[in-house]
Amino acid sequence: MPSQTALVLFSGGQDSATCLAWALARYERVETIGFDYGQRHIVELTVRPAVLQKTREMSADWNARLREDHMIDLSVLGEISDTALTSNVAIAMQANGLPNTFVPGRNLLFLTIAATVAYRRGLNVLVGGMCETDYSGYPDCRDETMKAMEKALQLGMATPMAIATPLMWIDKAATWKLAEDLGGAALVEMIRTETHTCYLGERGALHEWGHGCGHCPACQLRARGYAQYRGAVNPEGITGTSQEPGG
Ligand code: ZN
Repeated sequence: MPSQTALVLFSGGQDSATCLAWALARYERVETIGFDYGQRHIVELTVRPAVLQKTREMSADWNARLREDHMIDLSVLGEISDTALTSNVAIAMQANGLPNTFVPGRNLLFLTIAATVAYRRGLNVLVGGMCETDYSGYPDCRDETMKAMEKALQLGMATPMAIATPLMWIDKAATWKLAEDLGGAALVEMIRTETHTCYLGERGALHEWGHGCGHCPACQLRARGYAQYRGAVNPEGITGTSQEPGG
């Protein structure tokens, strides 16, 4: 039985930083992969090295397990798709019920490229932050899509490659709690202050829940989840996203 080793799809956001900690707690060798696909703001990619470095500093074990980072140029995705993540248009809901931040096929492409890298590197689990619970209904985040993708990769590459999605059935508040379980308050604080989630790429002020514009769907989701997480940790504390923490 080969040892379990993992390649984490790592964007520098809250979800993928939590997935990285999850993988470091489980696998003896963990590598990371990121994609530059012409995101209209590059800030997400610029925070990656800092989040990786801070993750290393969390634990000697994690530092030993965390190995190479792979950055892949997928600018072709920006050339062939026209969405609010790759073009300078306002974020809006489309007639098909999907927000125009949806990049068709993005996760399928990411997983295929990641599997190619993992195959070459001898890694047997792909870890991604896909989530059905409180996302915008992106069809390529669905568990069924991941199961089908895993099957396609196993057949097409003749390898027992697995896809692990630790956030699939939990909401944003539970994602913060998972980070706490994995790395304590220090990991929560690192994710709060270092990771980036905002669709508009605003770094801006440090809010209670982290950096970001505070208005886009990604910021609102992150802020609401953090408030719920803090409320659960300390029911006497904050009760909404608009209030300051109580002490
Ligand atoms: Zn934002």
